[in-house]
Amino acid sequence: MTKRIRYHFMGIVQGVGFRPFVFRTALQCGLTGFVQNTIDGVIAEVQGSDSALKEFFLYINNNAPPLSEITGQACSEINTLDESDFKILESRSRGDLDAYSPPDSATCENCLQELFDPNDRRFRYPFINCTNCGPRLTIVNELPYDRDRTAMACFPLCPTCKKEYNTPSDRRFHAEPNACPVCGPRVRLIDASGNECLFDDPVEEAIHTLKQGLIIAIKGLGGFHLAVDAGNDAAVQRLRERKCREEKPLAIMVRNLNTAREIVETGIQEERLLASPQRPIVLLTKKNTGFISEFIAPHMNRLGVMLAYTPLQHLLLENDFTALVMTSANRTDEPICTGNREAVKRLQGIADFFLVHNRDILVRCDDSIAMVASGKPRLMRRARGFVPCPIMLTQHHPSVLALGPHLKSAVCIIKDNQAFLSPHIGDMETPQARDFFHENIKLLKKITDCSPGIVACDLHPGYYSTSVANSMQDVTVVRIQHHHAHIASCMAENGIKGKVIGLAMDGTGFGADGTIWGGEFLIADEVDFIRAGHIRQFKLPGSEAAIREPWRIGAGLLRDSYGDEWQTIATRLPLALHSQDYAVVEKMLTANINSPVCSSLGRLFDGVAAIIGIRAKVNFEGQAAMELEAVADSSDVSALPFKIDDYENTLSLNYIPSIKELTTQRLKGAPPPALAASFHAMLICSFIEMTVRIRSASGLNRVVLSGGCFQNRLLLEGCIEGLMKADFNVYSHHLVPTNDGGISLGQALVAASHFPFQ
Ligand code: ZN
Ligand code: ZN
Ligand code: FE
Repeated sequence: MTKRIRYHFMGIVQGVGFRPFVFRTALQCGLTGFVQNTIDGVIAEVQGSDSALKEFFLYINNNAPPLSEITGQACSEINTLDESDFKILESRSRGDLDAYSPPDSATCENCLQELFDPNDRRFRYPFINCTNCGPRLTIVNELPYDRDRTAMACFPLCPTCKKEYNTPSDRRFHAEPNACPVCGPRVRLIDASGNECLFDDPVEEAIHTLKQGLIIAIKGLGGFHLAVDAGNDAAVQRLRERKCREEKPLAIMVRNLNTAREIVETGIQEERLLASPQRPIVLLTKKNTGFISEFIAPHMNRLGVMLAYTPLQHLLLENDFTALVMTSANRTDEPICTGNREAVKRLQGIADFFLVHNRDILVRCDDSIAMVASGKPRLMRRARGFVPCPIMLTQHHPSVLALGPHLKSAVCIIKDNQAFLSPHIGDMETPQARDFFHENIKLLKKITDCSPGIVACDLHPGYYSTSVANSMQDVTVVRIQHHHAHIASCMAENGIKGKVIGLAMDGTGFGADGTIWGGEFLIADEVDFIRAGHIRQFKLPGSEAAIREPWRIGAGLLRDSYGDEWQTIATRLPLALHSQDYAVVEKMLTANINSPVCSSLGRLFDGVAAIIGIRAKVNFEGQAAMELEAVADSSDVSALPFKIDDYENTLSLNYIPSIKELTTQRLKGAPPPALAASFHAMLICSFIEMTVRIRSASGLNRVVLSGGCFQNRLLLEGCIEGLMKADFNVYSHHLVPTNDGGISLGQALVAASHFPFQ
């Protein structure tokens, strides 16, 4: 008996080859009907025998295209029609269509095979792509996503490409960036002064240049990379010198999983993440094999590795290098370069050559960074491959624009039940970064096709984003406390509502009482919060200087622990500095000059790293804490002692007993790895005990973990495990970063929740 079923597929189903997939499946199963993009997904009506319909249903759900994600589907039986074929109906134009572009995707296996097949017409063509792979968001000019509105508009398709584009059974059917050597973009090699070097094969020449240890800026999907041979110490050091980047780890790129396995430890989850179409940089434990220069990630036990994700990168890595350093082409605090001329100008004095092409990058988008912890992938920087996929919310909200924090910034728009985050913007310290911030607000407004009347920003009066919010006309500004936003962001991505216990373990954020917060135990929901507890406050002698020089924080902690004798003890520690330095700190603290108080876990990490003797000064924020985690030898340690103080129902985590114990043991010669591990163990134990105390008083059993310190895998995994053992329901980040890169999602959710639909 013939039946007709109407399917409605929701989720990421547009611009990812979903309609041709449905078309091919329907033909395979011998069904008639049609498929069409609509306002909120894809509609398919299929007609045929029971068994054919069943086969169709199973195939669709088990073999959906790699870039698609069906988040919901509905089906109903409707009246049969008199028809004889299956059609792809035209999409309706914007206005009634949520036609945001899909994210960029790594070159697929089929395209790779063609790339290296001498008989293929796209043999070694650096812009090969198909319906399942290639550039997407980064070539979008206007929406809806359609070739005429992308950077490919200036490359008219040749007859062969056009035929592929128009043939539903072809794997390049409606592949908007489709191109070939006849009709598509080309690469060029240019020298440091911007002159084209004429070679038959610019890619071969670039490889030759890299082998000589020179630095090449290479145009990628969302911006330029600076590349050097990762096995060449001198080249890596030269790159560091020229980029003024002393020790901050550099990412490397390898051709495939096999090479990655030679350099770093990988598990199933890690390999899945590395090889995913999003191809993030994945942080993985180093193997000591000697393939990779020591200068790539000094003092770190982990290495940021990604697999090649464009055809051009595959060509560069094919034969000649184990790995290339591929670091964002920018100067400190500036966004990544995208334009050819822009790159030559901004990278003057850094790059020796430029491997460019004539397909424009229209949306700036850095590489994403991820890690695996507690068996789950976690994003630490959300950009290429993930943007603009929305985070699905549990309910519909009024539209909100959230401007994010100041460092590791990203902006967010909530529209209906979806939250769209911009690519990672970075630290808003330079005019270029601020321009990029405004670029991203425009991008989100374009993607969501809305201009929200509610604007959320941080409580900090001095942030650039706060001043932008205040200068906006005709909007309602809602200011959200930094750590409340952290917790709300984790609630949003986990789809939970109502009161929770929130652990916001962080660098620094402006507190509701005007002091610096950063080690917070909140009772929070999506509207408001109270501060149930925090890490015992301490002073930052010299304020900003204390962040660059953790020894100052260590000195302050010793003073809090030992009173008047602290200087004698400090000079006996291995990191001993000149006693006049300590005298200066003593003076500052006694007179309370430029020494703000904070409850920041990030800064406590810094101070402890200094006391243990790991680092007195840092080259980048978080370096001391990262090294403390890196040295920690987690095997079988006992936690350092601590106390929990109670001041009028606000708990204070008192780590002074830990500082004393650490110092005593260090003076006795205990090695840093054991001390670092027992400090981590103390944090985990004390967090669990604090949370248990808050549960007893509040009856709440859900714990939400957020804040930059949960990038520390030892801490995150220890807390998740310990809290689960204590019967808590534990929620942590996986879709947006736990660091400040996820803040704007929380800001948007809290602001939206202040204005519920009536
Ligand atoms: Zn492909
Ligand atoms: Zn062509
Ligand atoms: Fe933060």
